[in-house]
Parts: sequence; structure tokens; C-alpha cells
Amino acid sequence: MKTNIFNREQLISQLPGVKKWDVIVIGGGASGLGVAVDSATRGYKTLLLEQVDYAKGTSSRSTKLVHGGVRYLAQGNIDLVREALHERGLLEKNAPHLVKNQSFVIPNYRWWEGIYYTIGLKAYDFLAGKLSLGKSTHINKTNTVERLSTLRQKGLYGGVVYKDGQFDDSRLAVNLAQTAIEQGATLLNHFKVTGLAQDTSGKITGVEALDTETNTSYSFDANLVINATGVFSDEILKMQNKDARKSIVPSQGVHLVFDKSFLPGEDAIMIPKTDDGRVLFAVPWHDKVIVGTTDTNLDDHSLEPQAQEQEIEFILQTFNNYLDKKVTRADVRSIYAGLRPLAAPKDSSEKTKEISRSHKVIVSESGLLTITGGKWTTYRRMAQDTIDKAISLKRLPKQPCRTKDLKIHGAKPTEDRNDHKYIYGTDQKGIADLIKEDASLGEKLHPRLPFLKAEVVWAARYEMARTVDDVLARRVRALFLDAHAAIDMTPEVAQILAKELNRDEAWRIEQVEKFTKLANHYCIESNTVTA
Ligand SMILES: Cc1cc2nc3c(=O)[nH]c(=O)nc-3n(C[C@H](O)[C@H](O)[C@H](O)COP(=O)(O)OP(=O)(O)OC[C@H]3O[C@@H](n4cnc5c(N)ncnc54)[C@H](O)[C@@H]3O)c2cc1C
Repeated sequence: MKTNIFNREQLISQLPGVKKWDVIVIGGGASGLGVAVDSATRGYKTLLLEQVDYAKGTSSRSTKLVHGGVRYLAQGNIDLVREALHERGLLEKNAPHLVKNQSFVIPNYRWWEGIYYTIGLKAYDFLAGKLSLGKSTHINKTNTVERLSTLRQKGLYGGVVYKDGQFDDSRLAVNLAQTAIEQGATLLNHFKVTGLAQDTSGKITGVEALDTETNTSYSFDANLVINATGVFSDEILKMQNKDARKSIVPSQGVHLVFDKSFLPGEDAIMIPKTDDGRVLFAVPWHDKVIVGTTDTNLDDHSLEPQAQEQEIEFILQTFNNYLDKKVTRADVRSIYAGLRPLAAPKDSSEKTKEISRSHKVIVSESGLLTITGGKWTTYRRMAQDTIDKAISLKRLPKQPCRTKDLKIHGAKPTEDRNDHKYIYGTDQKGIADLIKEDASLGEKLHPRLPFLKAEVVWAARYEMARTVDDVLARRVRALFLDAHAAIDMTPEVAQILAKELNRDEAWRIEQVEKFTKLANHYCIESNTVTA
């Protein structure tokens, strides 16, 4: 039988075979996974450890845009936008099953906005160069209403249409993890770094880690340790120097998810300036609409951040300002919050909207490299810069970056997105084969969502899913699309997983309890935390 390279037990059994790793990456979000792929393709022996699951943190909680950032253009941040537009183009080529060419309409309610945004977006197209996704155009009122039938018509002058990318963030994370493994790296989820090993001069020589499934401790030696833990970066920095300065401030962004009837059709809405100067998107995603986001400075961070009441109200009110078909709290199918790992401001007068969104590689005296900031869209470039930095510091032998044209696991040109399984790309066949072997796996898990039992089996066997949360939040996106439906699906998913992972009844019961508790926070009625 063919060995399954994505099997966690098998990957763990190979650990003693490696005396010293070239690179250990801490954190399995966009930043860490990108670094693991880059490092492995350059031929370095690479280990990545993720404390919970790939994209458990911020990387599953984005607005799902692969974009240059129209807002940063308005701020005059040309280099940042050009770089992101270039990366957008590369990602669309290398993961066409995950990245969709999405049209956005900016509705104009003031006479000058049509001209203003058309000029701005022409510049956006120009910066994309050869990798442009299509030309921006001005459209009149009739055309705008035809495209956005629920839009507020009173006072509408017309709209400006532009193109950007749209993707599935945690699916990309899972596919990047698979790509890294295919390139020879070892990746382990549910494996937490608990300490850093240092020699007498304070130089880092490896990490201490815990397999949280078995409670087994490990020590791994490495030439280079890279901290890619997003909002958790300071915890790792403090492990090597307890006096390390606070380098990160979390800024929370909340999204509400509604049924597609509130934004039928193909187009997304981009509201370039809300009452308090933010940008708000309403984007079609997996037959639902995501609306967000907010920008709220927090003092603290967690793996399950929660929306504040005023963030929910802000999104509802702002979206309703632009709609004739109004949304209410009862229409919210899911609510999720994510934390931006922004560089800490130098003084308290700096607001998060103004703090640099570009990425940064921090080199500590101990030899630790920390990659922070940036965005999903630029994950590949961030990884390249991190490994290039290590080479320039002579921590790794020189090898060129090889990720520009590297196809990501599952890559397949995808036009037809009607069957929800398009997201698996080339792996769609594997799921079809499972159903061929056992027709009951072709059954749906919930009447309101398209996901099948076969997808749970596939996630456990080939996508390293270990818990109900891994499956329902990040392999299929049930939790983010319809939190109540996700709760309903829990017993069935736990049952399938227990069988696949050879777990007992106590494990199954615990999984149902744990996930139900977690998923309740994605339901609006339990998500009314006041600031
Ligand atoms: C609301 C919001 C909307 C966004 N929208 C977009 C968008 O539309 N497009 C875009 O391009 N970008 C977007 N971004 C930015 C993008 O999502 C982030 O830049 C990116 O996901 C950050 O990834 P990361 O790997 O740095 O952090 P994370 O995804 O948080 O990953 C860090 C990981 O480290 C792990 N970890 C922590 N401590 C340890 C430890 N001790 N041992 C092992 N593992 C550990 C965590 O569990 C976590 O999985 C958005 C961000 C937010 C907050």
C-alpha cells in the first residue's frame, strides 16, 4: 500500500531520525507555513510546530481577499500596494483552485466619487502590471442597481467596478502544509513550543515542545529557529529574553456572515469610507456574504477572540446604510473575530490604522528570527524575505528562493465553482473515490450546508485534521458559514472522526462538548461581550 505522507503518527515516528534541523518554524499560520514551504524548497531540513491547528489563529479569520489594498493606495503607500498586487497575481497562478477573480463595486452617493475612484482604481490596475486581474470601469446607476439589486437606490449616482482576488484562507493554509510536506518538511499540528534551548552565551540551539495529544515532551536541536506566531510573538520573544520589549499590539477585526439573499449576484461591495473613516467589505463567499471588518485596539490576545457589542452594531448599521433590504441581528449566520499582529506603536498617539501594515523580520541577539505583520496576500514574499535574511546573516547556506512558480497542493485551473468541492482542486477525485467505495459517505452533514461525510474522512486521512474544530472550522468552513448548522453537525462529525482516528467513546463525547461550547461564540445571541 502507498504510504500516506500526511499521516501525523508517521511524521512523529520519523522525528528521532533527524539529529539536528536546519530550520525550526514556530507557528502554522500564513507566515509560518510560507516559511516552511520556502525553506523546504531550498533544500533545508525543516520542522514546523503548530500549537493547535494550521490557521487556528488569525489566518482563518481574514476578509478572504487576495488584494493589493485599495485603502493603502489612498494612503499613498505605493510600494506596499505594488508588492501585494504582484503577490496576488502569483497566488492566482499557483493556487487557481483557491483564488477567484472577484469584481467589487464601489457605490457612489456623491457626484464626484465616480471620477475620483475611477482615477484611483486605474492607478491600482496600472500597479498590477502584467498580473492585472482586469480593468476598472465606471458604471451608471441603472447598471449598478442591476448588479447589486439590494443596494440603497436613494441618492445613488453610479458605481466603479474593479477586480481583486478572493480566496479561502484556511484551505490555503492546509494546502500549504501539504505542499511543505511534499517538499520534504515535517509539519506537526497540536504540537506546542514550550521553551527555547540556549547555550551558555545565550544563543538559541533548539526548542522544547509538547505533543498535546499524548502529553509527550520533545527537545529538538536546530541551526535556526523562526518565530512566526502572529499575536503570540511576544510570548516566544520572552522565552529567550524575559525583558524583551513588547513588539506587537493586537488589533481586532470582526466579520458578520449573512445569507446570500442580502447580496445576490456575483459582485462584492467595497465601501471605501465609513462614518469613522474605515473600509467595509461585503463579499460573496461559499454561497454566503461576509461583511467586515472593524479595527479595535486590544490589550490582550487569545486563540478565540470575541466580538465586542459595538463592533457588531457598527457592521450592522454601516451595511444597512447601503442596503434597501436591511439586515437584522437575527440574520447573522456566524460571527468571527481575528487579531492583526501589528507592530507596537512607538508612542500612544499612533492609531492602528496608521501603523505600518508591511512585514518586518526582527533579529534577536539570541539568533531568533521573528517574522511579523504583513498580510495573507504577501505570505510568500514574507517567507522569502525571512529566509533571505537568515542567509544574509550566514545562518543558512546560500540557496535561491524557489517559490515564485511553485504550484500549491491541489492546484488546478478552476472555472466552474458550482460544485462546492471545487475548493479541493486535484484532490476532488480522491473524495469522489471515497464515495465510490462507500455510497453513504456521499450523504450531506446538514440540509443548510453542502458538506459531505466523505469530506470528514478525507480531512482526517489526508489533511491532518485531529478534532471536530479542525474539521468544521478549517477543513470545511461550516463554523464560519452557519454556526448553528455547525453545532447540529457535531455529533455526526465526532462519530466519523472517532472511527478514523481510532478514538474511544469518552473522546467522542468530549469533542462534542468542547466544540459546541466553542461554536456558541460564533452565534450572535451569545456574542454580546461589552468592551
Ligand atoms: C480581521 C482581519 C482581516 C484580514 N483580512 C485579510 C485579507 O482579506 N487579506 C489578506 O491578505 N490579509 C488579511 N488579514 C491579514 C492576515 O490574515 C494575517 O496577516 C495573517 O493571517 C497572519 O498570519 P500569521 O501566521 O502571522 O499569524 P497566525 O495566523 O495568528 O498564526 C500564528 C500561529 O502560531 C501558533 N502559535 C502561537 N504560539 C505557539 C507556540 N508556542 N507553539 C506553536 N505554535 C504557536 C498559533 O496557534 C497560530 O496558529 C486580515 C487580518 C485580520 C485580523
